[in-house]
Amino acid sequence: MDIGQFRRAGYQAIDRICDYYISLRDMSVTSQVEPGYLRKLLPASAPTVGEDFQLIADDYLKYILPGLTHWQHPSFFAYCPASCSFESILGEIYASSMSNPGFSWSVGPACTELEAVVMDWSAQILGLDKSFCNTTEVGGGVIQATACDAALVATVAARSRYIHEHPQVPLEKLILYTTTQTHSLGEKTGLILGLKVRALQVTEEDEFALRGETLEMALKEDVHVGLHPFILIATLGTTSSGAVDRLDEIGDVVKSHPFLWLHVDAAWAGVALVCPEYREVCQLPAINSYADSFCTNFHKWGLIQLDASCLWVRQRKHLTDALDVTPEFLRSKCGDAGTAIDYRNWNIGLSRRFRSLKFWFVLRARGIEGFQKHITNCIKLNTQFAQGIRESDQFSFVAKPFLALTVFRLAPQSLSHLTTSELNGLNRAFYARLAARDDIAMTQTELNGVFCVRMSIGAERTVEGDIDRALAVIAEEGRIALQEWEN
Ligand code: PLP
Repeated sequence: MDIGQFRRAGYQAIDRICDYYISLRDMSVTSQVEPGYLRKLLPASAPTVGEDFQLIADDYLKYILPGLTHWQHPSFFAYCPASCSFESILGEIYASSMSNPGFSWSVGPACTELEAVVMDWSAQILGLDKSFCNTTEVGGGVIQATACDAALVATVAARSRYIHEHPQVPLEKLILYTTTQTHSLGEKTGLILGLKVRALQVTEEDEFALRGETLEMALKEDVHVGLHPFILIATLGTTSSGAVDRLDEIGDVVKSHPFLWLHVDAAWAGVALVCPEYREVCQLPAINSYADSFCTNFHKWGLIQLDASCLWVRQRKHLTDALDVTPEFLRSKCGDAGTAIDYRNWNIGLSRRFRSLKFWFVLRARGIEGFQKHITNCIKLNTQFAQGIRESDQFSFVAKPFLALTVFRLAPQSLSHLTTSELNGLNRAFYARLAARDDIAMTQTELNGVFCVRMSIGAERTVEGDIDRALAVIAEEGRIALQEWEN
């Protein structure tokens, strides 16, 4: 492809992206293809002779687009949101046009310096303590691909700190704490690092949040049997119910265990901290007082597309102590002198995408007010949805609605005599009906044995009418599921 052809294909790509967004509302939310659909449509091997790009671009529309779920669709309410904004798309286009692996300051100074700046800007807009900022040269922030990577990196740093302080402790005695509501990233981190993992119990009475006394008790038990708890992965906004672990109480316990690292995973909910009115309920004061590391994904609710996971640490030294491996070919003048950040020592991989550019574009183009508007709008829409659930005699909440998440189930008064397992059966049937539709997407989950449905709002194009329609859809599917149940 020469420059002229690239220019034409590029203009066409932007036109097609615009057309996509113009017609998005009229599309199905989920793809209806069957597994293996694409292999049947594509040749068994790559072409020997290069093909005309127009044909390739047309085939994208013909074969690929029908197999995609449209996460930006106004009726996409599944999982967590996956942000995408035009400013962010442009950031990705410019960044990919350079393909600069930016692993050290010296191989692309702007990549590193912009990342350090936008991570500080992001810390500030969320109200994080300034000890997390890069300007301190002690703490700092780094963009990771995902919250799973962030948890893994934080755990590696915590383990390194612990072993440094307790060199006599065998690795098999270390134990990582999560809760029964922590995202699967906790268990996966343990799997990858070969660590023991203990999921601390949370209860419905505590709104599925970890309490300080549960942590205290677990520490006593484990220390008593010779184990060494060295990190707790706590959560602000759990995936299943939006629970916020009691970081104030946890902080009090952590204070008396100086080498127990507190990582706060706020992958989904963390961006809500941009609104001062949600900081208290999101336990920001405790995060600022006690967390050793904090993660939130701008690629979930923060208007920046994948991958945009922010990890801040109070002491960057623990990251670099654990992850700095510098063979001769990676040495540089300022790396040796320690006068610049080499971000390769703050994550697992070496080469890094130039992710900070899209942060810079979006943070500047939207401003703090733009983020606040997006978050408050989603929360307002969720209040509308939750009100519909409250007023219905068909449905009930399984957890208290939080921010832009409502967890509910079909539980009509007339069936209050059903056992949990019978109600679960009814709700599985109800959810199967929802999942079979292509015009709306929600996710199922289970909370301490109760099967339920999650409504998670975050797409920028969702408006009040979409919430009314979602309420009408669940009412209709609920009615049919009940009818079928009764027959
Ligand atoms: N943590 C929480 C609380 C989440 O809800 C999710 C995703 O839903 C994750 C972590 C995983 O995020 P990522 O895909 O960036 O690893």
